[in-house]
Amino acid sequence: MPMRADVFTLFPEMVDDYMGRSILGRAVAAGHLDIRSHDLRMATDDVHRTVDDSPFGGGAGMVLMPEPVFAAVEAVSPPRPLILLGPGGRKFDQGVVAELVALDGFSLLCGRYEGVDERIRTDLCDDEVSIGDFVLAGGELAALVVIEAVARLHPGVLGNQESTLDESFGFGLLEHPQYTRPAEFRGLHVPEVLRSGDHGRIARWRRASSLARTLDRRPDLIERRGGLTDEDQALLDEFGPGT
Ligand code: SAH
Repeated sequence: MPMRADVFTLFPEMVDDYMGRSILGRAVAAGHLDIRSHDLRMATDDVHRTVDDSPFGGGAGMVLMPEPVFAAVEAVSPPRPLILLGPGGRKFDQGVVAELVALDGFSLLCGRYEGVDERIRTDLCDDEVSIGDFVLAGGELAALVVIEAVARLHPGVLGNQESTLDESFGFGLLEHPQYTRPAEFRGLHVPEVLRSGDHGRIARWRRASSLARTLDRRPDLIERRGGLTDEDQALLDEFGPGT
């Protein structure tokens, strides 16, 4: 079954364009993904197709109004949950990706300007997700981030499904370093173990490098999995520091 994701936005063409290219574009064409963008102005009836107004209480900028946004969502009855994209939401990570990939579909609502009327958040949307502690000009890039991260785990979307198993965050660790040809480049050598043909040793080296890299750059991830096991420590000892 295709993964369905509906996106409510003032700029549906941004979503359609991105979704038409590369791996995601091929997956859409092959019927693995069913991505539907909806124009938030679809249910407006004034000549200017107004969707925003200035905030009660004063202040800079414009806020998306409840009427047109509720009306657009109600006209479509999109798959739930309907997730608002916003800097105040729960932080998007591979755990949220796993939640979403397990569903038949979900929907995303992109804010713009100063954001959306609070009633859209509390009474129309089911959840709110932030892609990080920074402020974008609109939710479209965030929506594409969410869709891309979820879609690549959907069966059939990536050519080689195996490639998602041991990548970053898969086991709560960062991925091991990768090398391709040539074996030597400007005096920089590919680790000997990767050219040894000894698959058991290669697997252990990869695991050890994953652990070492995560310890170095993201000790919080090691902490979250409850520290190093005896087996982890043995692997690190086998390959030495700096693996
Ligand atoms: N005034 C708001 C920011 C509005 S930014 C505030 O201070 O919280 C305009 C829109 O961009 C938001 O409605 C949201 O849809 C999107 N956006 C901005 N930053 C985002 C982030 N970190 N994650 C997800 N969406 C974001």
